[in-house]
Amino acid sequence: MKEWAEETPIIITEGCGSFLKDISGRWYLDGIASIWVTVHGHRKKEIDNAIKSQIDKISHSTLLGLTHPPAIKLAEKLIKLVRKLEVMGHESNPPLPPFTKGGQGGITNALRITHYALLTRVFYSDNGSTAVEIGLKVAFQYWQHKGIKRKKRFLSLNNAYHGDTIGAVSVGGIDIFHNIFSPLLFKSYKAPSPYCYRCEFAKKFPSCKLFCLKKMEQVMQKHHQEIAGLIIEPIMQGAGGMIVSPPGYLKGVRKLCDKYNILMIADEVATGFGRTGKMFACEHEKVSPDILCLAKGITGGYLPLAATITTEKIYNAFLGEFKDLKTFFHGHTYTGNQIACAAAVANLEIFKKEKTLKTMQKKIEILKKGLFKITELPHVGDVRQKGFMVGIELVKDKKTKEPYPTGEKIGWKVCCKARKKGLIIRPLGNVIVLMPPLSISNQELKRLVEITAEAIREVTE
Ligand code: PMP
Repeated sequence: MKEWAEETPIIITEGCGSFLKDISGRWYLDGIASIWVTVHGHRKKEIDNAIKSQIDKISHSTLLGLTHPPAIKLAEKLIKLVRKLEVMGHESNPPLPPFTKGGQGGITNALRITHYALLTRVFYSDNGSTAVEIGLKVAFQYWQHKGIKRKKRFLSLNNAYHGDTIGAVSVGGIDIFHNIFSPLLFKSYKAPSPYCYRCEFAKKFPSCKLFCLKKMEQVMQKHHQEIAGLIIEPIMQGAGGMIVSPPGYLKGVRKLCDKYNILMIADEVATGFGRTGKMFACEHEKVSPDILCLAKGITGGYLPLAATITTEKIYNAFLGEFKDLKTFFHGHTYTGNQIACAAAVANLEIFKKEKTLKTMQKKIEILKKGLFKITELPHVGDVRQKGFMVGIELVKDKKTKEPYPTGEKIGWKVCCKARKKGLIIRPLGNVIVLMPPLSISNQELKRLVEITAEAIREVTE
């Protein structure tokens, strides 16, 4: 904090496409999509217009006891998107019954499906941490309603990051962020991180045969009667250092959750909305969670909004007479804000109109090629990429994987150097993060990699 206060801050006044402008008129490439949120670029005409026209109608009305068209429209779109996950299904699902419409009440009514394991219900909030808190509380309350009162605990991963609120921190696994708060946290069980570069068991993929999953199973075997849910960042542990899980890992987690009757909560706050090259990271392994947490890119990077989506089975457990008080007592003031939902609807429409996911595939390859050169630098230990999520792990010694000591601030120094060259990036310790808007051009993408490589070289060599 002292060092931060001594620095001259960059004051951002404008944005356009992949760029940010500061108060002195200098433009920077936004290499981290303004903390992993910008999707179609800054000042995207369609989202700007959707917000403006929403403001001309109404900016906010509560979702507590009321609803509104942008929230309804968005819920319908989200449910349609997650249908793709459901069709992929998880193995314990009984065969899909015919698609039925109807039912009583609820904003996603038109799309209501009777199949119990399908993601059908949207609960709004306003940021990633709240989306996670809601996921945890829903999972807990579900088992209470089911009469399985012992299921009160959660299982999460080492190196996990699920937000900064106390519940989210309780299922976090990053010592430098979370340790200090340990007296405030509820107890959660931990499974190993699928961090192949620094495998906790000094094994190698694929000969390890996903040993970390075996370890996870041991925890489940011992404690499943107490475990309400497992929470996981699918495919990519983000803030833990951009850790890509090996193929088959996520699918294996889903199978274990089914086997031990544990709800699977997928935290796609960071990975959702195209970040990994698919709309949701779960699609890479054809996995459908019981609870899905979304935020960040949901509004294209414009406004705070989040959604926690649950299956019909979970939703049904909350139904009851007024006197039963089975409802989910949770509601934030700005939950499902009208302007934010309007921005999110416009965001999703652009995905369709511009075929964002299709056009980004070539760019993912360009990024991959550029990163290959970075891999060869003498102080780059590991380069991890899934779509437009990249982590470059810097090491003091490439052979021994000896990390740079924290006090050397190596990641921070590289990012400062990059800033001088017109690129905004932020490190996670010794890991340099690249996470550009999905709309970044080929040329800009090349520049992003070039500047990053130059900055790494100048600081580490
Ligand atoms: N979950 C994950 C996977 C995240 O990456 C983040 C934020 N980086 C959060 C939850 C918390 O989101 P927010 O900062 O919007 O509270």
